[in-house]
Amino acid sequence: MNPLYAGLEAGGTKFNCIAATGPNDIRAEARFPTTTPAETLGRVIEFFRRVQAEHGPLAALGIGSFGPVDPNPASPTFGYITTTPKPGWAQADIVGPLRAALGLPTAFDTDVNAAALGEWRWGAAQGLDTFVYLTIGTGIGGGVFVNGQLVHGLIHPELGHILIPRDPARDPFPGFCPFHGDCLEGLAAGPAIERRWGARAETLPPDHPAWELEAHYLALGLVSYICTLSPQRIILGGGVMSQPQIFPLLRAETQSLLNGYIQAPQIIEHSDTYIVPPGLGARAGMLGAVALAENEYQKSA
Ligand code: ADP
Ligand code: ZN
Repeated sequence: MNPLYAGLEAGGTKFNCIAATGPNDIRAEARFPTTTPAETLGRVIEFFRRVQAEHGPLAALGIGSFGPVDPNPASPTFGYITTTPKPGWAQADIVGPLRAALGLPTAFDTDVNAAALGEWRWGAAQGLDTFVYLTIGTGIGGGVFVNGQLVHGLIHPELGHILIPRDPARDPFPGFCPFHGDCLEGLAAGPAIERRWGARAETLPPDHPAWELEAHYLALGLVSYICTLSPQRIILGGGVMSQPQIFPLLRAETQSLLNGYIQAPQIIEHSDTYIVPPGLGARAGMLGAVALAENEYQKSA
């Protein structure tokens, strides 16, 4: 029998919990609003204890968290959310309380690295060795998988905070990133769309000029990732990307900005399979956490 894994996608607005052996065998799921660390983690613990009572032992726990986080197992603050502006969550220990209460081998990474791993294991990145997973939601974040491994490096990549050109004549909105103003996240995450156009992104019609500008900014980001990481595919998820009209605009704008310089048929002839939505849909993050748990279990076994 396949081991049953616990996956936690810890987000700034909700915590998604899942118990599964893989995407085709999900035994239980729950979501809790992100309130205080003690209350939210308490509900997570209660949920996984109930899962164990009903479905048998869990083999390992994987956590993909909003950040910035400390994903370095050798660090004293491993498993913490570090400098988030979210009230109550700066320097919050996520792994400690869950490991103490559940006693499971526990893996911890960024939410986007987890989602990238999930896409590699079961979704749109199967068989690839270098790719990027990007989410466009309340913020912009990216998971990076290079030469068959998730990238951590100094801390972890921050693909949302790259600095991109903005033409103030075309777009007077100065951006909302508290650190950089008009970085990619400051210009193209959901709240930027809402503030620039005065309406929530999900209420704008598909032919609204917002989407062309959105595709322009995202393409500037993708060009930087393509030129620095040479990804074999780029996967884009998150609330904003549930607008399907962005994808064709984004593919065309990326090609236009690259201007033929990168001579790869994947980009030039097959951009519809190069820039894609997540194969696991909205469950990429949760199932990615399950994939983290699977890796941890195999390491510990
Ligand atoms: P989070 O990033 O908090 O995990 P989401 O990925 O749902 O959650 O991102 C929320 C942001 O995405 C909000 O700014 C919201 O306006 C925007 N959003 C959510 N759904 C849609 C949609 N269908 N179309 C466009 N924008 C959306
Ligand atoms: Zn920024």
